[in-house]
Amino acid sequence: MSDRLPGFSTLAVHAGAQPDPTTGARATPIYQTTSFVFNDADHAASLFGLQAFGNIYTRIGNPTNAVLEERVAALEGGTAALAVASGHAAQVVVLQQLLQPGDEFIAARKLYGGSINQFTHAFKSFGWNVVWADSDDIASFERAVTPRTKAIFIESIANPAGSITDIEAISTVARKAGVPLIVDNTLASPYLIRPIDHGADIVVHSLTKFLGGHGNSLGGIIVDAGTFDWSTGGKYPMLSEPRPEYHGIRLQETFGNFAFAIACRVLGLRDLGPALSPFNAFMILTGIETLPLRMQKHCDNAKAVAEFLAGHPAVASVNYAGLPSDKYNRLARKYAPKGAGAVFTFSLKGGYDAGVNLVSKLQLFSHLANVGDTRSLVIHPASTTHSQLDDAAKIKSGAGPDVVRLSIGIEDKEDLIADLEQALGA
Ligand SMILES: *Cc1c(COP(=O)(O)O)cnc(C)c1O
Repeated sequence: MSDRLPGFSTLAVHAGAQPDPTTGARATPIYQTTSFVFNDADHAASLFGLQAFGNIYTRIGNPTNAVLEERVAALEGGTAALAVASGHAAQVVVLQQLLQPGDEFIAARKLYGGSINQFTHAFKSFGWNVVWADSDDIASFERAVTPRTKAIFIESIANPAGSITDIEAISTVARKAGVPLIVDNTLASPYLIRPIDHGADIVVHSLTKFLGGHGNSLGGIIVDAGTFDWSTGGKYPMLSEPRPEYHGIRLQETFGNFAFAIACRVLGLRDLGPALSPFNAFMILTGIETLPLRMQKHCDNAKAVAEFLAGHPAVASVNYAGLPSDKYNRLARKYAPKGAGAVFTFSLKGGYDAGVNLVSKLQLFSHLANVGDTRSLVIHPASTTHSQLDDAAKIKSGAGPDVVRLSIGIEDKEDLIADLEQALGA
């Protein structure tokens, strides 16, 4: 064996997996079982008391899911990960470890529409108060910090316009405030951006998008960077204080630099219950094997389509950070040198009606509410994903009435451009 550290593409295929010790199966088996037999009573007691690692029940952990967790932790450069049923489940489980009722977290306003909704309404009912900030104005994060702030939440490449967030600058604000920085890395995937390298303490994903990559399985994951000291200032009692349900152990003291991932599993997933099906874990693992190939093709196609649109007379503007003229191009060169992702927006001179007309004329692009599929997708955010926002908030989050969002797939770029050309011309 060489002592070379494996590269990203090697990790995407191999990390966390080995041939099945009993059957020799080379692909990771789907352990489609609810529960696992204990060796004896002592073994059972030690598993339940967190004195030993092992399988108990699939709501808490499963061997297929464990391969997925190890693989994504390796790709992101984290210490450990926890897979859950969806991206939204990942966000609930993360914040449940950090916030008590009455606490606050700061979130960038440019976010996936579903996250804006979840933070504004569902989390409010838990007593978790979101305070919005503007990722184009780093000082707005600083101004939002109060003694009740427990976390900062941003997207690396932000929905819907594909803008690039200055992770390092916001991480400096989080450090100063003594709170962890959570980065939703869904639109970038670790192939384009590894937020932990830029100061993130926790990374979350909707595995449903580029990581799974084929538009066939929901999933979410939480990656622990192992960087945050949870004992400072008594701000994070779930991690620093004795846990009555586990014989009074303190998670940070016992599990050190992967205590957060453990808390998410044994306090979050175990009690809230959004477990990932092992079948979905298998589908997503298979998707991740080709992540580097797909992601590069997604980005190369997106750049070609963005260039085509920028030169089309019916198009008013294109927001793609990979274009040299784009306001996020400097940040794209720094954070995502391999490509600026494959989700972006453009606006039409004909406004709302032209957007609706375009969507109805496209043939190869599917009109639906998803991103990060092998297939190219189109949506009009103002009437769908961002429809719950008022007009001012729509514009602030990059989803004004004239805006169309594309998620570029891995088809031949000439076919995508031809489809847009016929739909724009008609
Ligand atoms: C889709 C998405 C989510 C939510 O993930 P689900 O798997 O649909 O629950 C969160 N963040 C971003 C950026 C997304 O694109």
